Amino acid sequence: MKHRLNTRELTRRDFLARSLKTAAGAAVLGGAGAGLAQVAPSGERPPRAEGVTVINPRSRVPVGLIIDDSTCLVNLNRFAMPQFNEVYLGAKEVYRRNWREWPVEIPDRFLRAFNDWAVGAGVRGKFSIVPFPACVGRLDRELPGWTRGELAASLKLVREEMAPHWDLTPEMVTHTRVIDLKTGHPYPEITPKFMENWEWTTGKSADEIGAYLAYALQILKDAGLPADGITTPGGFGKKARPQMAQATLQACRSVFGTEIPHYFTDLFSEGNQSVAPVVQNASGLDGPDPRCVVYVPGCTGDWTAGWDCTNPGGADKFITADGKGGRMVEVIQRGEPALMFGHWTGIYFNGYEIGFKILQEVVKRLHATFDNLLWMKNSEVARYWAAKELTRLERAGNTVKLHAPYACPDFTLRLAARSPKPPVLRTGADAKPLTEVTAPLKLTPGTWCRDGDATLACFALAKGASQLEFQN
Ligand SMILES: [Zn+2]
Repeated sequence: MKHRLNTRELTRRDFLARSLKTAAGAAVLGGAGAGLAQVAPSGERPPRAEGVTVINPRSRVPVGLIIDDSTCLVNLNRFAMPQFNEVYLGAKEVYRRNWREWPVEIPDRFLRAFNDWAVGAGVRGKFSIVPFPACVGRLDRELPGWTRGELAASLKLVREEMAPHWDLTPEMVTHTRVIDLKTGHPYPEITPKFMENWEWTTGKSADEIGAYLAYALQILKDAGLPADGITTPGGFGKKARPQMAQATLQACRSVFGTEIPHYFTDLFSEGNQSVAPVVQNASGLDGPDPRCVVYVPGCTGDWTAGWDCTNPGGADKFITADGKGGRMVEVIQRGEPALMFGHWTGIYFNGYEIGFKILQEVVKRLHATFDNLLWMKNSEVARYWAAKELTRLERAGNTVKLHAPYACPDFTLRLAARSPKPPVLRTGADAKPLTEVTAPLKLTPGTWCRDGDATLACFALAKGASQLEFQN
């Protein structure tokens, strides 16, 4: 959960507006975090040749679905709500809802039905797995209220059937109370300072935050789940942005050896600012151990049914029935990654599946409206943006020399010149002519096409040196 939706969106927009003001004059690369660049450094950038541009993968628009507050079996916010209420001594109505009437479980049969739908529709994205959900139990040890067999079966379902289509990320350790890493128990103090989703990170160093992220990642690792990124609950890291970026880089590398760690922390549900990912803290690009971390934002509000099963915004806010309006349409038409968002609590909605029905309608409308979408996990978007920003491109006549710190499938270049014959991709001793296709939307790795006076080429970019030779 975050705060009630409107509050959350407002908080995020407020923050962005403030940071844009203070960032005046700062050199900023494109991306949603443009206003945040002064607090999270972008790091190194390679030189780029004139007339060569990295365009969207396969000349399509990345889309994805980001799901928060999910985990195995536990209906997180049923247990989180009384803990949030406790912090404010009952003074906030939003935390006094009828949680006792909510089911304790979001069952695996629903998880399976949801995932089967996603796989069938081609939907990909990010799915949080809170490792010690609301202090109920640790996924790597014991989940009181369920048998060990049930926990093992749930982890197996996530590992085998979900992981191919979703990035699994911890949404911190508990999403509620801060855990003392020395004891594994929550701290005794019950204030916003000791809640993961409020103030705990304020004033903390990258090392302190990194140790906390590593603890969360390690539980998932010990439970047999892969994770190459982080989701922050509510306000976690919001007032410690450079530390949060560095902490994500350190923790993901140390626990899983992740090559390109990514994190999700903000939604930009309206407005014209870019919602593209931001590649941060890039270093060592020419060496054997390049580093960076990618900030991947969402572009909608939760218009499914929220963290607390209230106020569904409805499908129209994502995309209207005629396909002409809605936030997803706006962002897709701009050509930027359109990663929509919902909370698992409201997607299940105590068995009424209200959010799920909204998502099904949204995806149906997206597919009826657009023929140029490419569903991607957050990690795939992160890798593409890292390759787009960090690959060195040098041009000598009709040859583009590439030096790539990271490999990238579907890497797609636009050369502002005609190539009457097939471009040749040369990697080491291997030289392959690309196959011509008749239109940009037909591009797949290993193909090229003409686009007016320009040439588009799509190929699996190899880590290290390669070159693309255009013919004239
Ligand atoms: Zn959350």
